[in-house]
Amino acid sequence: MDSIVEAVFQHADRGAERPVLLFEGQTISYGQLASQVTSFAQALLVHGLHEGDRVALFLENCPDFVVTYLGTHLAGGIVVLVNTQYRQVELSHIMSDAGVRFCVTGPAGRTELSRLDLPDLETLIIVGEDVHEENSASLSWSEFLDAGDKQGGTHELTMPSPDAPAVIGYTSGTTGRAKGALLLQRNLLANIQALTQAWHWSEQDHLLLTLPLFHTHGLMVGMHGTLYTGARVTLRRKFDAASVLSSLRHDPSISLFFGVPTMYSRLLAEAERQGGPVPHPRLFVSGSAPLSPHLFNDFARTFGQFILERYGMTETGMNLSVPYDGERRAGTVGLPFPGQEARIVDTQTRQVLPAGEIGEIEVRGPHVFVGYWNRPEATAEALSEDGWFKTGDLGWRSADGYFTITGRARELIISGGYNIYPREVEDVLATHPGVGEVAVIGLPDLDLGEQVVAVIVPRPNQPRDANDIIAYCRERLASYKKPRRVIFIDALPRNALGKVQKHLLVARLDEHR
Ligand code: ATP
Ligand code: MG
Repeated sequence: MDSIVEAVFQHADRGAERPVLLFEGQTISYGQLASQVTSFAQALLVHGLHEGDRVALFLENCPDFVVTYLGTHLAGGIVVLVNTQYRQVELSHIMSDAGVRFCVTGPAGRTELSRLDLPDLETLIIVGEDVHEENSASLSWSEFLDAGDKQGGTHELTMPSPDAPAVIGYTSGTTGRAKGALLLQRNLLANIQALTQAWHWSEQDHLLLTLPLFHTHGLMVGMHGTLYTGARVTLRRKFDAASVLSSLRHDPSISLFFGVPTMYSRLLAEAERQGGPVPHPRLFVSGSAPLSPHLFNDFARTFGQFILERYGMTETGMNLSVPYDGERRAGTVGLPFPGQEARIVDTQTRQVLPAGEIGEIEVRGPHVFVGYWNRPEATAEALSEDGWFKTGDLGWRSADGYFTITGRARELIISGGYNIYPREVEDVLATHPGVGEVAVIGLPDLDLGEQVVAVIVPRPNQPRDANDIIAYCRERLASYKKPRRVIFIDALPRNALGKVQKHLLVARLDEHR
């Protein structure tokens, strides 16, 4: 088997009736999915898709997302994933950068796209709305498929080869402008084989998925794992703590839940608010952003199990994971997946560092992408000739092989000649009773070069006492790591995955200086 779409057809052959996708009261079987995927692929070819053409998905979670994704692969196209929160600036960047010819979107996305000048974009397919406009480049989902059916749907369909380009995934733009990472079918498959093996994912599993499908975590972990193993998934448009808790309580068949740390803290707060028994799916997985040891332990106290943390990114899919059977060590992201390598190197000399020393994390393996779309310099910069990818994240490895992430190389604060890892300070601040959320950043300082600044969203009804917070850090950390300034704020700027966008925070605070 060479691709996820091929896996779906194999599962359909073995048992067409078996459910794969549950969404808002609808149940779709493997057989139905395979047939919808075939129709969509036929329609794309009838509408003139050529091998390697880009088909963008600018769509919220729904079954048609999955059909488009797999159908594009079956027709020989490349899927471009677009964050649904993106507006004019980000959209025009991605759509033109990738040279998108077909785009599947919803009514809101259509309005957004209609304001842009996108010469490459020929066909817009609108999910969830009737279009019926003569001579329009927009077609409703059913019009698009009908045109394919009318012309007989006679194109020969072949399963993608392992080397076929499959996806251009844009990085989250946490540290700057989003870059398009090109992944081949074999990258995707290698990653999901390793991951399903490590997490013991089988066709018996049932995943509750509330993460967006336009991102690696939702699509390449959640959806791929389900489709590869022949399991099933309950898909939601978005995360809501109360409804997740209630689903987990009332549907004992749900065995897996994946989330970002913010979801886990909301889930925990909701469980504590409601009281009563807590559900016990087989596995909770966290990733995309750091899970504080504080939340890791609090969650375990209430839910009776440790969240399994993993580390990954758009360019590689998943790289590291806390072991399923072994020790789930707080604050760590565990070990490389089977068949992959990871190491820590000095950021200047690029020499491999011994256990315990902080440096940049590099990864290598069959899952690593082939390069950034249209960006040869960025590719050469990030990928070495012998296949190591520079992740841009800092961390260290313990003597027994567990990796710990200390933050992003770009966010390292150098103050008075000392290296300060914001994450370490954030983890301490997160345990202060007055602190709801926190981001530690470096702001320019004439004397120290940079100064440590804590930006804090206070817990409701707690005093805002900057001095107390600084004193709290001084007791627990070396003095040079303590914040020099504490700024209270109502909310931190976060991207769709809940990651704090520190560059926006720095820019905003700079304006107010
Ligand atoms: P950009 O590359 O555009 O700045 P981004 O790196 O946030 O954005 P993604 O590819 O979506 O884009 O995210 C990958 C990054 O998320 C990793 O490089 C890492 O910094 C962070 N990350 C993922 N999992 C974890 C984790 N378990 N703990 C800490 N950080 C994580
Ligand atoms: Mg990145």
